[in-house]
Amino acid sequence: MPANLDWDDIIHGVARDVKSHLGKGEVAQYIPALANADPHSFALVLTTLDGKAHGAGDLDLPFSAQSISKLFMLTLALEAWGGDLWKRVGREPSGSAFNSIAQLEYEEGIPRNPFINAGALVVTDAVISASSDEGALAGMLGLVRRASGSSRVRIDPDVAESEKLWGHRNKSLAHFMKSFHIIENDVDEVLDTYFCQCALETTARELSRAGLFLAADGRDPVSGKRFTEVGRSTRINALMMMCGHYDMSGDFAYRVGLPGKSGVGGGILCIIPGVGSLCAFSPALNRSGNSLVGTRALELFARRAGMNVFRR
Ligand code: GLU
Repeated sequence: MPANLDWDDIIHGVARDVKSHLGKGEVAQYIPALANADPHSFALVLTTLDGKAHGAGDLDLPFSAQSISKLFMLTLALEAWGGDLWKRVGREPSGSAFNSIAQLEYEEGIPRNPFINAGALVVTDAVISASSDEGALAGMLGLVRRASGSSRVRIDPDVAESEKLWGHRNKSLAHFMKSFHIIENDVDEVLDTYFCQCALETTARELSRAGLFLAADGRDPVSGKRFTEVGRSTRINALMMMCGHYDMSGDFAYRVGLPGKSGVGGGILCIIPGVGSLCAFSPALNRSGNSLVGTRALELFARRAGMNVFRR
């Protein structure tokens, strides 16, 4: 780790400089349970390999992780299926919105990547097929709790209910893929699990800690616990870089230069391999469903800290 960087100073400087942008963008409206989030809340936190958190803002404010949960489900799916997972889901950027259905028809029900909603439904299906009695959802929650070291992390029942009530687009994606025999399990079971996984509630501090194994070749650098193999953590990071921000993944790579995964709850988890795991949070979103101020904060942080995987 660069010895001369004052992380706290950089992070507090970024938090100060993005303040005037808070409120720009639009909080997710697709379910009532998210529409009430305060667009002025903000957090930026880096957990370094020694497990220390450096942060500013609402570090301990619980928010809906939404699509960031896809990272953890993907980790479980790769553990269970290895390379066979790629028979059912691609690993190419989609260039489409997170919930797009158009591409699926041309590509015979095989989603472009595990981070668009269709791909995440397939990943969830794969974990359900491989799960023992514990179940896929409990498996994912257990992974996030172990990786974050926080037993407070939970599935928010109100958000899960709202996802179910308003999840017509996800329901159509799942049924459409079932018609191509890409989904193995009962569609309602897959959807129920997916809706609950999206309702994963964490804080910026917890998420930043939970991502640390991806900055350290799959092993928690503090406890030494291995969550995944080196070859898998590098590939999860590659997928985050190429596909983590839907149809703005290219823009994020250009501006920030770090693997990242966003969620419509306003969180973005970024990995700095060999250095740490960084979480930005602010609920107002840009037109592609990524946190507007969160992206700006990560861009400023990466530039000021010189943290960019394309730079030496
Ligand atoms: N619950 C959202 C959905 O399935 C997740 C999308 C996201 O966070 O990007 O529509």
